Amino acid sequence: MLIIGGGATGTGIARDLALRGVRCILVEQGDINAGTSGANHGLLHSGARYVSSDQGSAIECREEGALLKQMAPQCIDDAGGLFVAVEGDDEKYVAEFPHLCSECGIPVKELDLKEARELEPVLSDKLIAAYAVNDASIDPFKLSLENIAQAQELGCTLLRFTKVIGFEKKNNKIQATHLQDTVTGEKIIIDANQVVNASGAWAGEVAALAGVKIDIICSKGSLLVTHNRITDRVVNRLRASANADILVPGGTVSILGTTSIRIENLNQVYPTVEEVDAMVGEAVKMIPALENARFIRAYAGVRPLVGSRTASDDRNVSRSFALIDHTDDGLENFVSISGGKLTTYRLMAEKTADLVCGHLGVSKPCLTRTEPLPETQPGKWTQPGLAPKLWMQKHEPEDILLCECEMVPKSVVDSIVDAIRKQDGQPDLKAISLRSRIGKGACQGTFCGVRVTAYLFDQGELTFDQCLAGLREFLGKRWHGQYPTLWDKQLVQSELLEALYCGLFGLEL
Ligand SMILES: Cc1cc2nc3c(=O)[nH]c(=O)nc-3n(C[C@H](O)[C@H](O)[C@H](O)COP(=O)(O)OP(=O)(O)OC[C@H]3O[C@@H](n4cnc5c(N)ncnc54)[C@H](O)[C@@H]3O)c2cc1C
Repeated sequence: MLIIGGGATGTGIARDLALRGVRCILVEQGDINAGTSGANHGLLHSGARYVSSDQGSAIECREEGALLKQMAPQCIDDAGGLFVAVEGDDEKYVAEFPHLCSECGIPVKELDLKEARELEPVLSDKLIAAYAVNDASIDPFKLSLENIAQAQELGCTLLRFTKVIGFEKKNNKIQATHLQDTVTGEKIIIDANQVVNASGAWAGEVAALAGVKIDIICSKGSLLVTHNRITDRVVNRLRASANADILVPGGTVSILGTTSIRIENLNQVYPTVEEVDAMVGEAVKMIPALENARFIRAYAGVRPLVGSRTASDDRNVSRSFALIDHTDDGLENFVSISGGKLTTYRLMAEKTADLVCGHLGVSKPCLTRTEPLPETQPGKWTQPGLAPKLWMQKHEPEDILLCECEMVPKSVVDSIVDAIRKQDGQPDLKAISLRSRIGKGACQGTFCGVRVTAYLFDQGELTFDQCLAGLREFLGKRWHGQYPTLWDKQLVQSELLEALYCGLFGLEL
């Protein structure tokens, strides 16, 4: 079995199939979560967000959210959530909300406004309604890293930085898949019995390589990260989906989003100044404190919405997923899965695995409903606060901090290097930051970027040229996220970063 795409869906499929004893290879053009799974809000939906627009998705989210809280608790902060309306919001929508939640079986509790403001003191004093729901936040990096780690332990092969560039077809089947190493340029060919296209927003492009068509709308959404955690709970604006409706706690920070802008070019996905301005301007109506909050970064991801390109508002296209058996298109061993939510990744994986196991004649049932996702070494250090907690409890004097904002010591970097090596990969700054909190704090890599790179050089992991190239790439990526947030303290921080990297290392982009 060949799985294309190393996001939540692809890694979830790899784990599901590995638990059923199916031999798989997962290929990913970048690193794990290089696509939308690494650029979303991290909200484990209770389903309440969709009760008015898409009840099918609302019910799917309710069921999967509850199941994931039991099966993958280490990835979830079960913070709870509020839906709040402010003066001027649509009162008809507000009045219908509890009834619609009940129709979808979603638990909801009306709060009096004083109680809501006691729970979250930063809420506006112009509230007109507040409800409590079972929203939570989920760490998408930990989730995918742990899914693939278990799949690998059970025999799955992971090929990162390996891109599908073409297919050979014979007798209504994919005969061979052509791939290219995106670092070295080396080409390889894989013969697989079945091919699963789990490439998210790229599913249309990958399907086109196989000569089949999928109608995918790509909708960009941008998000903003605050310097500290603004609310304990997820806070949703109680109205039909619009910009800047949701603030999700992400460990020590909060994430504000999002927007919805249709795009065609998947390689140019960046947050813009206009989006950031619009989001802050809107969100302050719900949480006035956001006006003066320090935002450390923005980022953007792409929603693959499988549906009609003629829809007038992409927010109205179904958030459910599409599982397509391309037998009907004349390809018997090619399946595509796209759309859906991070919240429903496990269900998407289960349904995909059921379909391909049917093709292969494998009768073993899905185990991910009942087998908890094991905690693993590769996924351990994405958790905010864990490294400092363990370091403060006990550490050797020479185990100095390489990242001071998030308090990540040398020993954690060593453990991640080890995990990357076991995945047959090259440890570098980018790969280490994906698997830890490095570069995620207020300094955005100003100090930890150079320290971790120098440490890798000292350890003989990287050559001098690799160090500079890695720093340039890391800072370039961070810059796209910092650029739209350059005011107040973050502007000062960015000036310091520029002085250090351009002044000392000549790393002008
Ligand atoms: C702004 C935003 C906010 C969101 N917030 C939430 C939320 O709070 N809660 C929630 O439940 N959902 C949320 N979602 C939706 C959720 O993030 C996605 O549904 C989910 O991450 C999709 O995962 P995936 O694995 O299907 O796709 P992806 O994560 O995009 O994975 C596809 C992978 O395929 C790889 N790939 C592509 N082409 C090739 C190729 N030719 N060869 C090899 N590999 C290839 C890509 O590099 C990519 O890593 C949000 C989405 C957006 C855009």
